[in-house]
Amino acid sequence: MSDEDGAVRAGDAGSPIASAISHKQRLQRALERDTLSKPRHTRIIAVANQKGGVGKTTTAVNVAAGLAQEGMNVVLIDADAQGNASTALGIGHRSGTPGTYDVLISRASIADVVQPCEAVEGLYVVPATIDLSGADVELIDVPQREFQLRKAVDKFVLEYSKVDYVIIDCPPSLGLLTVNAFVAAKEVLVPIQAEYYALEGVSLLHGTIRRLSTQLNRELRLLGIVVTMVDNRTRLSREVIAEVQRSFPDLVFEVTIPRTVRLSEAPSFGETIMTFDPSSLGAVSYRALAHEVAHRENN
Ligand code: ATP
Ligand code: MG
Repeated sequence: MSDEDGAVRAGDAGSPIASAISHKQRLQRALERDTLSKPRHTRIIAVANQKGGVGKTTTAVNVAAGLAQEGMNVVLIDADAQGNASTALGIGHRSGTPGTYDVLISRASIADVVQPCEAVEGLYVVPATIDLSGADVELIDVPQREFQLRKAVDKFVLEYSKVDYVIIDCPPSLGLLTVNAFVAAKEVLVPIQAEYYALEGVSLLHGTIRRLSTQLNRELRLLGIVVTMVDNRTRLSREVIAEVQRSFPDLVFEVTIPRTVRLSEAPSFGETIMTFDPSSLGAVSYRALAHEVAHRENN
């Protein structure tokens, strides 16, 4: 079975493989015509959904790599103790590796711990280690503990004004790490997996973003929702896309991310799909998402 077959847009006619290929070609043609300019100010985007396994990390690393390949300077902050984003970008994250944990407990600045991603020029990573799993307990007595990441990011952006994007990969919870990400960020990108109960929890997430935007971070807004792991051969995927479009017409991204084997294989090689298989439908789709993200600048 082709890696590409699952990934067709709703309504495409003909055989699944043929329509997947023509869908990819349409995306490629649109990308060739589209040029990106750098944002006016550094954009800080948290990729979040308290639901586990919906494609947060895959989206964060591939959008980050897609933007870097367009000439942007991108810093990805891994804010999940699982360290999956660090793994996917080929960055070691054994316990003790300096990273997000040290930044959160004010032991290091972002500049101290950031590392270049060897495979993608312009992409830098703040790694996460298992140490991060204890950070919420360690921070309990720190006044204004929700602002730890914000302080570090603001300082970094002030010192390194050439950073175009800071992308924060959040853990699957709405705990202190995600709150730190929402206070540091100006925008939230929400991946939703094309499955039953896809929208379950989205109103909770929406409510949290709204509450934080009135209480802790007036600048925070929901950047958009991307439907991931789409298999358009199935009626379920098509129904989920239609439901998300009905519920969030202004927020849902036009491109959807296909479920493909290549996307799931890339992290085990320490690579994003952008270098692992740049002409695959997964890579082209994430490149299209990076373009849509870049065009939704609003600051
Ligand atoms: P967590 O909540 O644990 O942080 P997550 O929301 O970050 O998870 P990912 O780690 O990105 O989700 O994806 C979950 C699993 O699904 C991973 O094994 C990943 O490789 C796989 N996956 C993600 N997106 C796709 C896709 N489009 N096609 C196929 N597999 C995918
Ligand atoms: Mg993750």
